[in-house]
Amino acid sequence: MKIKDLHRQYAHLKYEIDSAISSVLDEQNFIQGSQVTLLEQQLADYVGTAFCDTCANGTDALMLALMACGVQRGDAVFVPDFTFVATASSAYILGATPVFVDIYSDTYNMSSESLEKAIEDTLSAGKLTPKAIITVDLFGLPCDYAKITTIAKKYHLKIIEDGAQGFGGAIGTKKACSFGDIATTSFFPVKPLGCYGDGGAVFTNDEHLHDMCVSLRVQGRSKSDKYENIICGFNSRLDTIQAAILIPKLKAFKEKELDAINSIATKYSVFLKDTVHIPVVPEGYASSWSQYTIKVNNAEIRRQLIAYLYAKDIQTAVYYPRVLHEQGAFTAIQTASECPNAINATKEVLSLPIHPYMTDEEVFCVSEAIRSFFAEGYSE
Ligand SMILES: *Cc1c(COP(=O)(O)O)cnc(C)c1O
Repeated sequence: MKIKDLHRQYAHLKYEIDSAISSVLDEQNFIQGSQVTLLEQQLADYVGTAFCDTCANGTDALMLALMACGVQRGDAVFVPDFTFVATASSAYILGATPVFVDIYSDTYNMSSESLEKAIEDTLSAGKLTPKAIITVDLFGLPCDYAKITTIAKKYHLKIIEDGAQGFGGAIGTKKACSFGDIATTSFFPVKPLGCYGDGGAVFTNDEHLHDMCVSLRVQGRSKSDKYENIICGFNSRLDTIQAAILIPKLKAFKEKELDAINSIATKYSVFLKDTVHIPVVPEGYASSWSQYTIKVNNAEIRRQLIAYLYAKDIQTAVYYPRVLHEQGAFTAIQTASECPNAINATKEVLSLPIHPYMTDEEVFCVSEAIRSFFAEGYSE
């Protein structure tokens, strides 16, 4: 059993997707075709922001957001220590310094206490200018935005919400990708909403940030004149074919997939709650289950569990095996900051197969395998 199964989704949506691709071939409108504009409107409507600007991938979306916010050399950008590398490398590539912040041990999202301490420490060191916070809605669950927004206001920092995994999540009726001053997502195939290649988007209510992103993704050109460049941008557009594929996929996501994956997660949690640490979804929050991530007591148990499940043909994955502050890419800026919860998470988490087309039998099979491992299958 694979951790994600894209074949099954394609089997359900094959007719719509094949026709969508054909229409782009018939129209030969590969760059910025009408499907791109339509998708942007639908995405903005769904998320509840005034603007959605698509781009080539989730990493570019972060670059666009950071550049639009004016992040530059000498700035500090606060990022969780436990996330995909792009969250931090996008800021680093622009010359800014990522400052690594610890996470909560239950939700794996950025700890607001650790964030405030990191900001205070940066201010007292006096070398960098705090500029922005990149919050990551990890595994599908939005961060604690009530607390983080208060801190952002207190220190005049922009919030860039990295919703690459969070698309479809919510707090109350407010959707993920609407919490930051600007938010990003990725349409990499296995993200909650995926296309058939690379893709990404930026969301905002701020007209200036929107204008900046629209300009930056096409070389920084001016609104009125295609060959007048007002700033230096780059080339980052969503292909029309990918936009055309995303339109029926977004429809299925809204109409059934998000509910389906939530019902699978609930079943897992019922089966597994007495055996392992199941994912925590705080009251009022909703996850889009980019991953269903359990936690065991130590690295050795995890190692044995992975092998046990593998022997039963069940694929699992460790997101993430390393904290960012220990990655070679960031050796030059290693901060003294300690992130014990992030380090523990790298040793203890394990993501199980989950996707909207999983059957009840499959959920039961994975859960039973985990229960039998703890009943008889491992040695201390
Ligand atoms: C996948 C991911 C990205 C990068 O998206 P790409 O489309 O692969 O460039 C950024 N941040 C997080 C948290 C991600 O999971």
